[in-house]
Amino acid sequence: MSTTTMAPLKDRSQLRQKQMIAAHFARLARTAESGEKSVYTFVPGNLTELVRNFDLLPVLPEINALQSSMRGKSKEYIALAEKLGHSEDVCSYVKCDIGMLKSGNVGPTGERLPAPDLLLLSYTGCFTFMKWFELLRQEYGAPTVMLHVPYQADGVITDAMRRYVVAQLEKKVIPALEKVSGKKFDLDKLREQLRLSAQAEDDLAWVLHSAKHRPSPIDAYFGGVYYIGPMFSAFRGTQDAVDYYRELRAEVQERLDAGLGPVTPAGTMEHEKFRVVVEGPPNWTSFNEFWRMFADEGAVVVASTYTKVGGFYDFGYRHDPEHPLESLADYCLGCYTNLDLGTRVDVLCRYLEEYDADGLLVHSVKSCNSFSAGQLVMLAEVEKRTGRPVGFLESDLVDPRYFSAANLKNRLESYFQMVAQKRAGARR
Ligand code: SF4
Repeated sequence: MSTTTMAPLKDRSQLRQKQMIAAHFARLARTAESGEKSVYTFVPGNLTELVRNFDLLPVLPEINALQSSMRGKSKEYIALAEKLGHSEDVCSYVKCDIGMLKSGNVGPTGERLPAPDLLLLSYTGCFTFMKWFELLRQEYGAPTVMLHVPYQADGVITDAMRRYVVAQLEKKVIPALEKVSGKKFDLDKLREQLRLSAQAEDDLAWVLHSAKHRPSPIDAYFGGVYYIGPMFSAFRGTQDAVDYYRELRAEVQERLDAGLGPVTPAGTMEHEKFRVVVEGPPNWTSFNEFWRMFADEGAVVVASTYTKVGGFYDFGYRHDPEHPLESLADYCLGCYTNLDLGTRVDVLCRYLEEYDADGLLVHSVKSCNSFSAGQLVMLAEVEKRTGRPVGFLESDLVDPRYFSAANLKNRLESYFQMVAQKRAGARR
């Protein structure tokens, strides 16, 4: 039975985000005339402020892949990449990107993307990043610079790790950006950019924490991926991002004041029946259908790990204008894909506790080893430590062949029945 009402018009912040993205892609489409240059780089551990310090334009291939998928293009792009010899086992983001490139490199807004002037690989825990950029380097022949970020194998960032990353920023990354842009690094400008980043990060953290209320005014997974959009992509360190997060926060405050639940594809959730934590990325090919399966059960995701793939602002991390390069290093070291399994389990247990969630759902995607490796072990450990019900779902990021709606719906229904039974048992 549905626990939602009809969908309202889009929030102001959503429209603002759409305009920001459209303006960015329009700028990318005009680089041939404007002379602006682009830097391709990945979401986890991205150095957006540093890239923009040189007036270079960031391009995030994963975002292009997921947006292609939401526009229904990933099936044909993946088929083309497989025809060209990329195996079925390769991460579907990579194949979607390669297929897009081979189909004319038309980006998510229908405009052409420029070839990269630099490939900036911030290596934060995913080996596929390296292979992906090797492919793009073959295709474009663009210069490449790699920032090696040590894995947090023990769940801590040591001074030596931080210094190692800072030294690479100083000796490799900044010189590469200077070379491609023809501009000198501007430390004062970076401090100002980081000040803007921290301001926006405060508001994003506030929005994420709002899910501790009952009912939660947000869905921190399906809704959360929209909230992290500007922060994890091309806009950190800009006034646009500050304005977006200020507006988003005000909207969420309004929802809190009115005692409203989150807005879902089926409308505003009227009755919050279940609160869950979700581990793993979402499915993009059937994003709204997947979200609706939760909404129809009255289930709200109150915290998720995927929305931390670009940093744990909710646990207090902020870019720091007083320690610019060190805080960029900590940012890269601290993103979710760079964390060991023990720390990931700690994070999940903490979320279950702090957000007073009924249980944990793991969404395992076939494509992504960075997320999926160890998820069953994590699931068992979280269940042992918290005693809360856990469930396991499977599909993929952008390959529609792996989204089985009937199967997912079945598993979700069984899971929520189990949660309800456990709750009833506890009341007896
Ligand atoms: S394997 Fe996962 S982290 Fe790596 S590129 Fe693919 S989706 Fe991203």
